[in-house]
Amino acid sequence: MKVVLATNNEGKLKEFRSLLAPLALDLVGQAELGIASVPETGATFVENALEKARHASAMSECPALSDDSGLVVDCLQGQPGIHSARFAGNDATDEDNNNKLLALLGNGQTRSAHFYCALVFLRHAQDPAPVIATGQWHGSIVIEPKGNNGFGYDPLFLVSGLGITSAELDPEAKNRISHRAQAVQELCAKLTPLI
Ligand code: IMP
Repeated sequence: MKVVLATNNEGKLKEFRSLLAPLALDLVGQAELGIASVPETGATFVENALEKARHASAMSECPALSDDSGLVVDCLQGQPGIHSARFAGNDATDEDNNNKLLALLGNGQTRSAHFYCALVFLRHAQDPAPVIATGQWHGSIVIEPKGNNGFGYDPLFLVSGLGITSAELDPEAKNRISHRAQAVQELCAKLTPLI
């Protein structure tokens, strides 16, 4: 089954092709079909993933899959949340975003957080029953960045029960337990009977 992945990020396309290999989908990136990304106007990860999948499906007239993810910090009312990628501004680097987060937290003691990933699969643009899978990866925010692996907020995210940041985990280990890994597992379980 041909499925459009609603992303222009080549890395993501590669990652999802590998993670969803058991489903034997023919995953095509939206850029290959000349589909531009849509502005994300939702208030939640799920709403944004739905918007992206609906747009890709409408433009391609194919089933579509999308994802949206970010970091949710409890004492900041869920920030950076859906704004994770551009927390410190439109051209912000990962380091800018991390510095902003550390400055907001100061030396505060309540530092619990989780990474969240929403995946949405639509059979067609008007699909009233989207397949939605989510993953949450719990931890807390350290005082100083640690580790060189991963990307984004990984150097700040102390993984619950492991005592190291997600940037100190080797990539294979992260890919087995992360929010994305959990969401993909749930998606595979939900899609398998449908395709
Ligand atoms: P996107 O869903 O790939 O656009 O991710 C949004 C933003 O959330 C990224 O730019 C990162 O800042 C953050 N993020 C999502 N997943 C991770 C992760 O696994 N590690 C670190 N940061 C992440």
